[in-house]
Amino acid sequence: MDDEWLVLDGAAGEGGGQILRSALALSMITGQSLRLENVRAGRSRPGLQRQHLAAVFAAAKVSKAMLDGAHLGSTELWFQPGRIVHDEFEFDIGSAGSATLVLQTVLPALWLADGGSWVRVIGGTHNEFAPPFEFFSQSFLPLAARLGAHAEATLVRPGYYPEGGGEIELRVEPVEKWERLDLLERGELRRVSATAVVSHLPAHVAQRELHVIGQRLQLKPAFLTAQRRDESEGPGNFVCVAVESEHVTEIATGFGRKGLPAEDVAAYAAADARRYLDTTAAVGQHLADQLLLPLAIGAGGAFVTLEPTSHLRTNIKTIQAFLPSVRIDVVQLDESRWLVDVAV
Ligand code: ATP
Repeated sequence: MDDEWLVLDGAAGEGGGQILRSALALSMITGQSLRLENVRAGRSRPGLQRQHLAAVFAAAKVSKAMLDGAHLGSTELWFQPGRIVHDEFEFDIGSAGSATLVLQTVLPALWLADGGSWVRVIGGTHNEFAPPFEFFSQSFLPLAARLGAHAEATLVRPGYYPEGGGEIELRVEPVEKWERLDLLERGELRRVSATAVVSHLPAHVAQRELHVIGQRLQLKPAFLTAQRRDESEGPGNFVCVAVESEHVTEIATGFGRKGLPAEDVAAYAAADARRYLDTTAAVGQHLADQLLLPLAIGAGGAFVTLEPTSHLRTNIKTIQAFLPSVRIDVVQLDESRWLVDVAV
């Protein structure tokens, strides 16, 4: 029986949730049944957590899949996809698990559906260790659009740990024609700006963050914006630095956490933005691992990025397990830049 199933080891490389999400996306697209062992074995709480389970159920809904092992804490999953459908979907994570990561799981399949879809995800919208809404909408989706894969995202309401309850809506159009993407240079620097958001927290939190970012990145007050979004269920805070260049926008984020001074939240985001500004690489580290899959299922392309992370290297292996004919080469160009070439 096993030779009909692609068996992947979830402990390999990064050993986290990304292997699961990429494998689900690729299973839906290729129609290849998946058996994932040792799910998230590299993490302190291994197995399927709520965010991962929500991604599994969302993938199953979109591809009419048969499932086994889909329960909290499960370390083994069987996923047998059927036909990809386009529809109106609502996925409720039931915790503050990342809504953007659930969206990224189903997006590739929805791009390849016969018609457009509308998706609502309820959960966390600004989570540590996951793409915040602004990264997804301002950095990832515009590049996907250049590949011919269009989707428009709206942040209805932010959701933070631990309450969750945030909401993102996404309208997805099927791809008509994939385009190759070459992102070897970021082009001229157009604008660097920062936005600090507070929900159910005092306004001085945002002001202190913007003060630190303004100083560290030498930004004038006109490029620093404070926002209040009290429609969230619980308190929360984040600050995004947007580095807009001619060909790409990079978003560096600091996430507020109880007990973490606002100055430290801002310092983290400023340091992340500074690392990117100090090189000429077009694509930041997070965007690099997330761009791979759309390039591999589309018309391919190449980009120059910072030092490859274990997320990037693990994602390459996952993609090649499903798409053996796709070649992905990583070549170091100089001290701080690597070329990633995806040949389909
Ligand atoms: P776990 O690691 O517990 O399994 P997980 O399912 O959240 O958790 P990871 O495998 O660590 O998953 O993947 C996290 C994803 O979120 C990666 O694609 C990573 O690039 C992205 N990411 C993390 N932090 C940011 C950030 N600040 N901005 C954009 N993307 C981010």
